[in-house]
Amino acid sequence: MKWGRAAASLFVLSTVAAAAVPDPASHFGHPIGVDKQLLQWDKVVSYFNLLAKSSDKIQVREIGKTAEGRPMIAAFIAAPETLHNLDHYRDIQRRLADPRITTAENAEPLIAEGKNVVLLTCSIHATEVASTHSAVEFAYRILTEDKPRFRTILQNDILILVPSLNPDGVDIVTRWYQRTLGTSYEGTSPPELWQKYVGHDNNRDWYIFTQPETRAVISELQNAWHPQIVYDVHQQGAYSSRIFVPPWMDPIEPNIDAVVAQEQNMIGTSMAVDLTAAGQKGVSIHSSYDFWSPARHYQSFHAGLRILTESASARLASPINVKFADLDREALGYDAQQRSWNFLEPWPGGTWRIRDIIDEQLIAFESCLYNAAIHREDMLRNFYGIGRRAIARSAPWAVVIPATQRDPGATRRMLETLAFGAVEIDRVPDGSHVIRMQQPYSSYAKALLERQQYPDMRMYPGGPPKRPYDVTAHTLPLLFGVEVRVSDGPVTGPFTREEFPFWAAAKNSYSASDTDTWFTVNRLWRSNRAVWRHEGTGDFAEGAQGAGWKQITRPRIGLYKSWTPAMDEGWTRWLLEQFGFEYTSLRNAEVNAGNLRSKYDVIVFPDQPAAEIRNGYAAARMPAEFTGGLGTPGAAALKQFAEAGGKLVFLNRSCVYAIAALGLSAKNVLTGVSNRDFYSPGSLLNVKLDLKNPLTRGLPENIAIWSEASPAFEADAHAVASYPESGVLASGWLLGEKLIAKRSALLNVKVGSGQVILFGFRPQYRGQSYQSFKMLFNALAM
Ligand SMILES: [Zn+2]
Repeated sequence: MKWGRAAASLFVLSTVAAAAVPDPASHFGHPIGVDKQLLQWDKVVSYFNLLAKSSDKIQVREIGKTAEGRPMIAAFIAAPETLHNLDHYRDIQRRLADPRITTAENAEPLIAEGKNVVLLTCSIHATEVASTHSAVEFAYRILTEDKPRFRTILQNDILILVPSLNPDGVDIVTRWYQRTLGTSYEGTSPPELWQKYVGHDNNRDWYIFTQPETRAVISELQNAWHPQIVYDVHQQGAYSSRIFVPPWMDPIEPNIDAVVAQEQNMIGTSMAVDLTAAGQKGVSIHSSYDFWSPARHYQSFHAGLRILTESASARLASPINVKFADLDREALGYDAQQRSWNFLEPWPGGTWRIRDIIDEQLIAFESCLYNAAIHREDMLRNFYGIGRRAIARSAPWAVVIPATQRDPGATRRMLETLAFGAVEIDRVPDGSHVIRMQQPYSSYAKALLERQQYPDMRMYPGGPPKRPYDVTAHTLPLLFGVEVRVSDGPVTGPFTREEFPFWAAAKNSYSASDTDTWFTVNRLWRSNRAVWRHEGTGDFAEGAQGAGWKQITRPRIGLYKSWTPAMDEGWTRWLLEQFGFEYTSLRNAEVNAGNLRSKYDVIVFPDQPAAEIRNGYAAARMPAEFTGGLGTPGAAALKQFAEAGGKLVFLNRSCVYAIAALGLSAKNVLTGVSNRDFYSPGSLLNVKLDLKNPLTRGLPENIAIWSEASPAFEADAHAVASYPESGVLASGWLLGEKLIAKRSALLNVKVGSGQVILFGFRPQYRGQSYQSFKMLFNALAM
């Protein structure tokens, strides 16, 4: 009897507990935002699941898995009656997003009824730790605090809250922070990439979609929900403004709809008002961040806004002291010590901690959502109007991808990539593909299919170039090596819509001159079968063939991996794995121990500054096991490797290391040249290839390569790729082409019985430069 009564009262207690929304402190064991505490991803997930169990204003969904297999989640937060009908509201979004299926008259009731959909994404950059904390606290507050602004938000918006776009990174950074807490390394960044393959470049992936995190958010949220706003939460350095909000700086990519840009100005400026009214100092607008690359701004090419905030950082969760005199006087667009129209109240300096960042982010979250709520109807009408303008586009009328292409596999890959970004692609009777511009996301298609003309922007008239925030080119036909034709007039149909399953079919293809053939080659090698290659055409075959055919041997590949993490190393790893190459990551200790030739045929150095390779982290900056570089013993071991018949492959900036460390008779003609005289900040440049060289097999004579902080060579060695005398720029921005005209971009230098291959560009650039992947693969296995 007693037992039964106890059980009954326990039951009642647990029902009460389930009904109350749990506060973060009880779940995490400490209040959110206290010094020296970071969150673990599994606890964040379980907290959101608890919220979903205890409130009817939130639903939590798993949207996919990360590169390391962690769950990615999205919390849908809105009024209960909205959440009960989520599919209905999603359908309203679908109909407003496509004016071809919704007349202006039919749009009006949808606009009256619909909700403003705001996708709020946190901590894509995992060392920018605060926003996952802010997501937890904001969710708790909006579910539990009854105040007018929250009521307005819940009534008018659907908030899709992604507490981290990079859950692996949450744990990588938290683990490192806990390990170094209380040591002199407390608050440092971990000596590894904070996303398995691409690290900080994970927000440069949003038109090529290489990583599972990007694909999950695009397919499950952005393409499915067509959010009117994507608010992406970041942190910047410690010495800039305390927080940046839009307006963005010039240049605004020319295909961005002007209403999208104006609404970004409106919402951003309103957020700045709220931050200032709440007493936040050091708010900057119209500074530092431009609006160019669709690699960062997917939604703005899909009729939605991209709102960015960048908060000043502490040292992870460890507070710092910032002196006013140390604040950045030369930030782009403002002086952090001076009042100006776009930086009205300088921050006086002092202690800066994670709680300060969370406090300003909570104001910014609420402000963005509140402004979305009060402008709901106008923004939905404008959203519909942006689609109307897009489908009315007549210049160009279409982009045609002719049926006959040098590399059909690359063409397929390019179309699959565009289709994943919600571009509609038709086939016409002659076999060509046609991308008609009369479709809702024609601005996205157009931006990626045309050549970029980045404006020549200077710090002041005649002064040095104003650096772009990221790179300046994104022309997919040049990156993939696909011929396209712009059609200013209507193309003759009939049109058949074609579906493109994303990056799927190619893994089994075996077509000559196709990059994807390397999948097959590697598969054959793994099953110990012999692969032959024609020395002229570059075709592959199994087993012995006739004249001109030569067996190529499976290379034992080492990939250098520095303790100073290089994103390009991660991208290279990703690429090798995608195409089935087996490799071993090589650390300093193994290189420095020498005798490399017994274990490797080829060693690849990713793009990394020479000093990082040579010296690594200085002794005071990291625990001893992560310090140091290749130094003298490493250079000697590499030279010995080449002399003994090994092959060394250097990519982009690592060539500078190679020239010095190996004493090569090649010179980088850009050493010591100022950016006033030469500037190529992420551009596509024309080169001419020597087609007799095995490095160029499978490629045409003229291609575009990815140039970014790249060397250009003067050497006795034969140039495999050279810049033309004029007309070097293919897409993006280039100053001082004369300095590299007729110089080499790719060298093959003999050293002993081995060779050193210097790529003065990034042949595997961010998984995007599909055409030039071939040159890297040729270098591995020619
Ligand atoms: Zn960031």
